This record gives sequence, C-alpha cells and structure tokens, in this order.
Amino acid sequence: MVKVTINKSVLELIEGDITEQETDAIVNAANSSLLGGGGVDGAIHRAGGPKILEECRKLGGCPTGEARITTGGNLTAKYVIHTVGPIYFGGKRREAELLANAYKNSLNLASQYKLKSVAFPSISTGAYGYPVNEAAMVALKAVINYFKTHTDIEQVRFVLFGQKAYQAYDKALQELAK
Ligand code: ADP
Repeated sequence: MVKVTINKSVLELIEGDITEQETDAIVNAANSSLLGGGGVDGAIHRAGGPKILEECRKLGGCPTGEARITTGGNLTAKYVIHTVGPIYFGGKRREAELLANAYKNSLNLASQYKLKSVAFPSISTGAYGYPVNEAAMVALKAVINYFKTHTDIEQVRFVLFGQKAYQAYDKALQELAK
C-alpha cells in the first residue's frame, strides 16, 4: 500500500478488489453500451446486484471518455461511476487524451455529487489492451492534476487487481514524484 498527500488530498494505491471498497463511489471501467461486460464491469454487477444494470439501461450508453453515475446497489459504496476508457490501437488515436478524460470526467461527476472518496480500477488495461505502464502514468497524472486544481475530493484510491498492475502504478508514481 502506498499513500501520498497531494495539495489537500490523499492518493492511495492498493492491490485488491474494487467491489469491496467502502469509498463513497467506485468507478467502473464500462463499455459504451453500459449494459454490462466482463472484467471489472462483470465483477461490479455481480457484487452490486441487478439494480445497477436497471439504472444503466435508462442512461442510454456513454461515449468514450465520458462518465455516468448510478447508485451502488448492494455494494458498500453508495455510488458507481461508469466511465468508458479507450480501446488501445497503438497510441495514435488520442488514446491518452481519452483515458485522461475518463478519469477527469469521473472526478467531476463525483464532485457534482459532493462525494469525498473515490476508488478507481486501472481503466482500459484489461480487455481494452492499454499497456499498463503507460496507462498508469496517464491515470496518476489526471488525478494529481485534479488534486492540484481542486480540494473537494479528499481521497482517491487506485485498486489494482494483481501484482503486475500494482507494481506498474507504484513505479509510475515514483517517477512522477521525482
Ligand atoms: P477495460 O475494458 O477498460 O480494459 P477490464 O475490466 O477488462 O476493463 O480491465 C480493467 C482492469 O480492471 C484490469 O487491470 C483488470 O485486471 C482489472 N479488474 C478486473 N476485476 C477487477 C476487480 N474486481 N477489482 C479491481 N480491478 C479489477
């Protein structure tokens, strides 16, 4: 576990399962239909129950880089923020910008709902194929930039699934701290 303070807020990296987090919101790496998928999306809908999918159906999808919100159903987190990361096509299709937007828009939505703590998975680095070392840099920069310009969200936790993802984020954070 790593914990650093940036401006007024805390950034944490942990290895674990995002469905178990007690933050105000957890973020789902959804696909643009918002109608469910595998990976972290499947895990969130399994743990949170059918109410989340029912709410998602009414949202009518979400473009890449944007974010939508539902309640947390049976989860401990009160809300799920559904965002859509880019599919990785080699890095020349504005993937980094779209990935940064997914984080930024998720944080803006949390802010609108006056939420104080948010947990993120490593968006786009599973089925969407974004190299985790590159994605970690984009993700951490987006959150650090938010903390430098806003003080409303007190805590962001990256919940990394497996040692490889955790190590990638740990290394990226060390690079950014230099
Ligand atoms: P994407 O389609 O955005 O790539 P995936 O769900 O396939 O989304 O993968 C995103 C990341 O979420 C991957 O690093 C994957 O290992 C991770 N992941 C899968 N299940 C969980 C979980 N329960 N908690 C946290 N992260 C998870």
